[in-house]
Amino acid sequence: MHDHRRLGRELELFHADPLSGAGLPVWLPAGAAARHAVEEYVRELERRAGYQHVYSPPLGKRELFELSGHLGYFAADMFPVLRLSADDEFVLRPALCPHHALVYRARGRSYRELPLRIAELGGMYRPERSGVLGGLSRVRAISLNDAHNFCAPEQVGAEVVEVLDLIRAAHAALGVRPAGFRLSLRGPGGKYVGDDEEWQRAEDLLRAALVGLPYVEAPGEAAFYGPKIDIQVRDVAGRESTLSTIQLDFDKPARFDLCYTDARGRRARPVMVHRSLVGSMERLFAYLIEVHAGAFPAWYAPVQVQVLPVGPEQVAAAEAFRRDCVLAGLRAELVVDGSLGARVRAAAQRRVPYAAVLGAREVSAGQVALRLRDGRSVEPMSAPDALRLVTGIVLGRSAELLP
Ligand SMILES: [Zn+2]
Repeated sequence: MHDHRRLGRELELFHADPLSGAGLPVWLPAGAAARHAVEEYVRELERRAGYQHVYSPPLGKRELFELSGHLGYFAADMFPVLRLSADDEFVLRPALCPHHALVYRARGRSYRELPLRIAELGGMYRPERSGVLGGLSRVRAISLNDAHNFCAPEQVGAEVVEVLDLIRAAHAALGVRPAGFRLSLRGPGGKYVGDDEEWQRAEDLLRAALVGLPYVEAPGEAAFYGPKIDIQVRDVAGRESTLSTIQLDFDKPARFDLCYTDARGRRARPVMVHRSLVGSMERLFAYLIEVHAGAFPAWYAPVQVQVLPVGPEQVAAAEAFRRDCVLAGLRAELVVDGSLGARVRAAAQRRVPYAAVLGAREVSAGQVALRLRDGRSVEPMSAPDALRLVTGIVLGRSAELLP
């Protein structure tokens, strides 16, 4: 494994500029292309699992975060309030839940709509101390893959199990290898809301969902509003951090007075399940860059195909193949300068999965020769076959470069 900060620089994935600010990296085109592919995948996975996506602003009225409890229990982890005038104060949100509670209560809800799964890949802010910042693993502007699943109380257990399944699917596709499961519980001290009975009920539900899985218990690591399952990953230095999480919350539905009409026409209170399948895009990529040493699976590689004509006579055919790749939805570029050997090596160094080489023989036969970044090469095949091979791997989100 390599340090993601060094690889991020070498592969031009992101840029940390002092003028942008500590913990406020900029995603460069290559990093943004990879992230875009991952975001699309996550949204598709969620859509298929019955999630509905929303957009909400990263800034909200102070009163919203007083109601949610964040200003009372979490203010030390938030940026100071922004003041336009005495009665117009705003908060850079530290979490998306308050806005999603507003989505829930935008109209009346029936039991038939539950579980109501509201998802967003949204921005939030935390004033991490400048000493702990670096690269993408700890940042101050966070893009979180988040959702809040509003359930009837009797649905919570099955919902948690279903979320665990989705987390497993996302990890398999991305190449995440979890370091372990953690059941994060209350610790000593008064920084927790809710009564003992609720906490006990939530802990029991999470324990039941974890049956058969190896996990450790971590007192003091719960959110202020409820216990959670954290799925840990380890970085290049062996440090553990939380990537995916499932949290139970009986408190916010009460604070926001959320309710639904149950099957007998009575008013009932939903339970809120906060969950993130892959965590923030920043922490996720810090991890993915290291675990893959920059060589992402082809489906989210920033450039998937580099087309290399052997000489000037093959440039037109190479450009036509590049265009076909782009029209087929691939990220492809043409590289003409330098010797073929140097270009093949440079493509592999940039972790481009496929170099498509076109020499005189290939062009006259309507073929291309694929060279893989791991040094393997494939017998020349017709251009449409080569295109089908690569698009098949990419659309199947395969971890392998060949079928
Ligand atoms: Zn939340």
